[in-house]
Amino acid sequence: MKPPKLPTVRIKQRGARRLRAGHPWVYRSDVQDDGGAKSGDVVRVATRHGSGGRNDLGLAFYSRESQIQLRQISQHTSMPDREFWRQRLQCSIARRSDLADADGAVRLVFSEADKLPGLIVDRYADVLVIQTQCAGSDALKKLWVELLCELLSPRAVFERNDTPSRRLEGLAFESGLLSGKLDGPVEVRIGGLSHLVHPLEGQKTGTYLDQQENQVCAAGYSRGRCLDVFSYQGGFGLQLAQGGAEEVTLVDQSERALAAAQQTAERNQLQLSVQAANAFDFLRQQHKASQEYDVVVLDPPAFAKNKASVEGALRGYKEVNLRALRLLADEGILVTSSCSYHLSVDLFEEVLQDAAQDAGRVVQVIERRGQSRDHPERLSFPESRYLKCFVLRVL
Ligand code: SAH
Repeated sequence: MKPPKLPTVRIKQRGARRLRAGHPWVYRSDVQDDGGAKSGDVVRVATRHGSGGRNDLGLAFYSRESQIQLRQISQHTSMPDREFWRQRLQCSIARRSDLADADGAVRLVFSEADKLPGLIVDRYADVLVIQTQCAGSDALKKLWVELLCELLSPRAVFERNDTPSRRLEGLAFESGLLSGKLDGPVEVRIGGLSHLVHPLEGQKTGTYLDQQENQVCAAGYSRGRCLDVFSYQGGFGLQLAQGGAEEVTLVDQSERALAAAQQTAERNQLQLSVQAANAFDFLRQQHKASQEYDVVVLDPPAFAKNKASVEGALRGYKEVNLRALRLLADEGILVTSSCSYHLSVDLFEEVLQDAAQDAGRVVQVIERRGQSRDHPERLSFPESRYLKCFVLRVL
């Protein structure tokens, strides 16, 4: 049987240059002619001049509604079949074989960085949670579930397609069970601690896997009085408690997240105190009350959601870091993160320097870290590098 003929989407010079340089996206403004393609289609990409040779730019998913109209699948032009996708999934899973135990949690597929555009797969022990973030990967949802069941025999597969970016793709919000069965949460071990994860309830696909290695790293600095600010369910604070702190306080505005952290502490026979508060106010009050800490962790939500909000975000990051630095004892440790893609690592470092200057402290950089290794950055695709985590020491 002859393979189906794919629509050809023709793109402008600028888009072609970007693809050739290794960036996997083509924006709407760089598309010349969609060749009658429909959202979710696999299409051939070609320059506006013709086809063959340098004019062929491989295959991509097409999204009519999105600003990102093309997401490159391959530089070649043979139609991806079931075996093609199975291989890509299998390779992506194999890349993580050393990163998590069977009862651990790990991101198995990190979309474009794993050459699986718009697809996220997270594993919590034997439960999988997927996100399909573009029309093309969404159209293949059934196939992903089928292949994942073949490759991993999971107890259950859920989808967590409730991220705001789906709106930009013209996709509906959908969350629920796609295969198998799970009553209640799933137990996973993260950095030696037992956590209960609810695939349909937590942030992201259940928790913040991108910080997993930084949380374990923070445990290595734990001592004395520790503060975990923007703690969510205590990813950092629990590690600090396990790592030998005398006292750990979690601060978050979400009482629900703090209650979950308390439960996890009890499960693991660890002691924590929690404060439901606005982090900015809390840090100011602690300074006023002359409180001092040996370790402070800051992990705020993305203050810069887009390019336009970078200015305001810089102020937010500076303020929160300045307030944290003021609370640290001499030789104290600040573990500080930014997950705003729009704030580059250089800008973040400038913010930290500014905050140190205003706090009148000399600060050493002990570690410059990023997202966990199961969220690898794809070179030539800066969008895949978003999390910055610095370990600083105050002299
Ligand atoms: N450190 C966590 C993830 C933090 S996510 C981990 O490693 O798992 C960011 C958290 O900041 C969320 O839990 C959110 O409730 C909280 N948050 C956002 N704005 C806040 C504010 N102004 N004050 C206190 N908490 C805030």
